[in-house]
Amino acid sequence: MSARQADCIFCKIIKGDIPSNIIYQDDDVVAFPDINPVTPIHLLIVPRKHIPTITSMTEEETKVIGKMVMAAKKIAKDQGLSEKGYRLTINNGPDAGQIVMHVHMHFMGGRSLVWNH
Ligand code: 5GP
Ligand code: ZN
Repeated sequence: MSARQADCIFCKIIKGDIPSNIIYQDDDVVAFPDINPVTPIHLLIVPRKHIPTITSMTEEETKVIGKMVMAAKKIAKDQGLSEKGYRLTINNGPDAGQIVMHVHMHFMGGRSLVWNH
């Protein structure tokens, strides 16, 4: 998938050009369900700003990762998962299987998870 913002599916969701059930948003971050969930609760937490990869991030841009973690904490509380736990995953680059070139954090929970290599 292209790293160009104009073609970016997550930018289109953030702008509302593609409808999605936005379950959380603030000035920096938006969260919506993954189209292909692998857990009962599988959300994507994304920065509003189009940033293709962790590798391309500037130090300034990495501040949004903290905002994404804060969003995850709030979502977990809303979903009743704060104590049960959940997994936060960022796939970065080809070996990690990143297919959407807009930095995103997977929020996965709602069942007990096994660790995959
Ligand atoms: P990656 O492998 O890049 O970390 O994962 C991208 C994720 O985005 C996948 O889990 C995939 O199901 C999800 N995804 C791809 N296209 C769309 C879409 O159009 N809408 C939503 N909500 N999720 C998508
Ligand atoms: Zn984008």
